[in-house]
Parts: sequence; structure tokens; C-alpha cells
Amino acid sequence: NAQEAILKGMQDSTEPTIFDKIVSKEIPATVLYEDNLAMAFKDVNPVAKTHFLVIPKIKAGLSQLSKANEDHKMLLGHCMYVAQMVAKQEKLEKGFRVVINDGVDGCQSVYHLHLHVIGGQQLSWPPG
Ligand code: ADP
Repeated sequence: NAQEAILKGMQDSTEPTIFDKIVSKEIPATVLYEDNLAMAFKDVNPVAKTHFLVIPKIKAGLSQLSKANEDHKMLLGHCMYVAQMVAKQEKLEKGFRVVINDGVDGCQSVYHLHLHVIGGQQLSWPPG
């Protein structure tokens, strides 16, 4: 569709990350949801009873949230929508948290935009 075409045209030359290999199925992951734009899979090192990640399958320059521009709005909204949809699928009916770590101060370690969705237990606030 048009959105996909726009994003493909924005494909960047930044280093592929481990998440690109998950998208291409080169390395295995427990995939909870997938469509043409986004993918949700279990975090390999969960910080709560439920912890999964939502990523755009087409990186389109989004190594981190702070690289976003106007053209990314639809993709960002889509990832947020997928986050709550998979949260329902994973039966997080009592609530959950969505986190995006950006850059060094945000403790980002994988430079391919991703939403953390955590829950399945009472969480505490605030983080450090
Ligand atoms: P942090 O590592 O500080 O949480 P990020 O926000 O960049 O920084 O999160 C990267 C997340 O990706 C981590 O929660 C990590 O456990 C997860 N992760 C890394 N490699 C894999 C993998 N192969 N499969 C699933 N999750 C992974």
C-alpha cells in the first residue's frame, strides 16, 4: 500500500541490528503478532511476568524515537495500536506499561525502534 511504499523509500543504511534478523527470521523469536508493518515478539530477558517488544518491520530511519519525522507518524501510531492489541491477546486486562528507551540516557541498547510492553503483575513507579 501507499504507506509501505513511502516507508520503503525511506529505507536507511544504518547498521542492521539483531531485530532485523528477527524480522527476516534469520534468528528465532517467539512471535506474538505480525503484519506488513510491525512485529511483536517476546523479550528474551523479561523484566516482568509478561514482556514483549513491538517493532516496525521497516526500519525507515527509525533507529530510535528521536529520529522520527512527519512521515513516521502513521508507523508510530500503528506500533502503539499493535502494543495494546497484543496486550489484550496476552490477557493483560488489569493493565500494562509501554516504554520506549531513547539513546544513552534512556539506556537504549538496540538501535531499531521498539516499544517495550510489560505487565502481568503489579508494577512499581517511577523507574530510575
Ligand atoms: P535495554 O537493553 O536497556 O532494555 P533497549 O530498550 O534497547 O535497551 O531494549 C532492548 C531489548 O531487547 C532488551 O529488553 C533485550 O532483552 C531485548 N533483546 C535483545 N536481543 C533479543 C532477542 N534476540 N530476542 C528478544 N529480545 C531481545
